[in-house]
Amino acid sequence: MTASIPPRGRKVRILATLGPASGSPDMIEALFRAGADAFRVNMSHGAQSGHAETIAHIRALEKQFGRPSTILADLQGPKLRVGAFAGGSAALATGGAFALDHDTAPGDATRVHLPHREVFAVLEPGTRLLLDDGKLVLRVLSRTAERIETRVEVGGTLSNNKGVNIPDVVVPLAALTEKDRSDLAFALDQHVDWVALSFVQRPEDVAEARRLIGGRAALLAKIEKPAAVDRLESILELADAVMVARGDLGVELPPYELPPLQKRIVETARRMGRPVVVATQMLESMIQAPTPTRAEVSDVATAIYDGADAVMLSAESAAGAWPRESVAMMDSIAVAVEGDPGYAARLHFTETRPDPTTADALSEAAGAIARTVSASAIICFTASGSTARRIARERPIVPVLVLTPKLETARRLGLLWGVHAVRTRDIGSFEEMVAKAKRMALRHGLAAAGDSVVVIAGVPFGTPGSTNVLHVVRIAGDELKGYRG
Ligand code: PGA
Ligand code: MN
Repeated sequence: MTASIPPRGRKVRILATLGPASGSPDMIEALFRAGADAFRVNMSHGAQSGHAETIAHIRALEKQFGRPSTILADLQGPKLRVGAFAGGSAALATGGAFALDHDTAPGDATRVHLPHREVFAVLEPGTRLLLDDGKLVLRVLSRTAERIETRVEVGGTLSNNKGVNIPDVVVPLAALTEKDRSDLAFALDQHVDWVALSFVQRPEDVAEARRLIGGRAALLAKIEKPAAVDRLESILELADAVMVARGDLGVELPPYELPPLQKRIVETARRMGRPVVVATQMLESMIQAPTPTRAEVSDVATAIYDGADAVMLSAESAAGAWPRESVAMMDSIAVAVEGDPGYAARLHFTETRPDPTTADALSEAAGAIARTVSASAIICFTASGSTARRIARERPIVPVLVLTPKLETARRLGLLWGVHAVRTRDIGSFEEMVAKAKRMALRHGLAAAGDSVVVIAGVPFGTPGSTNVLHVVRIAGDELKGYRG
């Protein structure tokens, strides 16, 4: 470990999607330096071999900077697409007729192949089909087992393999396609920290993915279907984290329904102690321009005021002309919001009452004590990370340093609000705990001589679910003697 960079001067995390504009080791390092806390590898694009290289580059940061890195592999999910057209595209006239069928022959202005046999059964007359991110709209007139006749409500040019959204019904598709299963096996083989599940419709979708993952990674459910919104709590119950996936959600629902929904999803996730990521089009204009629109800045700020754990960059960092600037802009917005004297009050507008458990009681008390005695940090010892999650859920205003003997725990915590996680050797006694808390608070620049820190841990040490120690430690002046950082 050559260098150690201090904890970020902000609480909200930045999740940056990597892609052709940012896959090189130099660019990944530049994004990390600019403020990216976690990286999304998007399995919808690119080949597994390329993703393996990207993952290796991200992990190389750990040695270089002496701090865990966080990788989220995002599975494409059962995204529906039309087949191909003769000549690559066709013009669909508004008011005209258009059919979808099982015929693999190239399509034209009257019909195209829809290579998803399962969905034909739910396409009743009146059902809407949204094509190419909702740019074109078809309404089903009639259906046979072989063919769907529609009326083109909003026409336009439709090209090969464009996406199809069917918002009005639960589509009888498995949570994971063949491609997803292969990508999942790959991602687990690569020891990614998080797996994101796309187009979740039912709690069962999450349960099935969970079974396949078997604890080898944490699971994030993307909320991008109205059906998932309807069953938000039962989906959250089964997931480790959630994403407000505004891209597809804003195709399936009118965009003006997104802001209240974003607030509801963030609030529910926070109450339930599930990290929540707000995603898509956050700084969209920075795909082309070095500065964002004022409206985009305001959108990022709103997500931070709402108390999201992380804000995400998609094409801005994956395929845009200004990846580093996009991360730096998000970082600056976060610093400005979190520096607002009114930030804490807005953040704590969402009440997160503790569950009736010792861990929650102590997590809540840790924040309260830190405030009362003006402690400079909370130091949390945890093996599984569960105490860290309960502390982050309280959104304490002081910095939180998490010490864990498990590298995978430290890595997974990289998506959580306000947590700086470090892998350290396990502790065996109360005295060791106190000494290490002091040493680490100093080393990571979270405390100075004369400061107090609040320590939270579980005895016996290293036993999951044993959180039962809350201790205030004062760092004496001579603690710094012989200390070399
Ligand atoms: P995607 O998911 O970028 O994988 O489509 C996010 C979204 O739909 O908002
Ligand atoms: Mn999506």
